[in-house]
Amino acid sequence: MLEPLYQKTIVCDQCKAQFITSKVRSSTVRVARTDSDFCAHYKDINPNFYEVRVCPKCGNATTEKFSVPFNNVSRTIFLDKIGNQWRTKDFGGERTKEEALQAYKLALINAQIRGERDVIIAQLCHHIGWLYRYDERFEEEKRFLGLALKSYMQAYVNEKSDIHLAKLMYVIGDLHARTGDSGEAIRWFGKVINDKTAVDPALVQMARDRWAELRTPPA
Ligand SMILES: [Zn+2]
Repeated sequence: MLEPLYQKTIVCDQCKAQFITSKVRSSTVRVARTDSDFCAHYKDINPNFYEVRVCPKCGNATTEKFSVPFNNVSRTIFLDKIGNQWRTKDFGGERTKEEALQAYKLALINAQIRGERDVIIAQLCHHIGWLYRYDERFEEEKRFLGLALKSYMQAYVNEKSDIHLAKLMYVIGDLHARTGDSGEAIRWFGKVINDKTAVDPALVQMARDRWAELRTPPA
């Protein structure tokens, strides 16, 4: 059988060290089911565990989607908060759920220090929420879904042009439902259903289903 992990060499954009990170071959990924907010549950290896690349020398954690480089100010803050306390730790091989969580949290702090785009910060928080969901740690999950929701809402206002808007509105609706505000969830699902520019019929159907589910009081 094909080894699911393969290795990639990355150059750290902070300390310039070269390091190895692992990725999952897409042909080995098998999805068991997907939740209404696109959280996939995998039969065996979870590719999300390997999305963050962590420099073993300085702790600089990024994903392929990062687009804001360090400047003098953010670099100083990074060194102060992470780099100067960092003890060599290698995330390059196989990762446990706990190591994946650590990697995502490092990436989140890094993204906040760099002033990354809201949608990047939102997706990191959303993924951290999923990692807690896999472990049924629902309090922590809800906390990070709330943080994700806040950043998705900011992305909706600030970054409209470069995002799949209907999907963003759908996710905002779904996270409102998951964090306990079904009124707002219904409103956002309604926006997806009535959006004239929505070109994804499957997504509109998902919004209809979620909308109907929330409008129907439990029997
Ligand atoms: Zn580094």
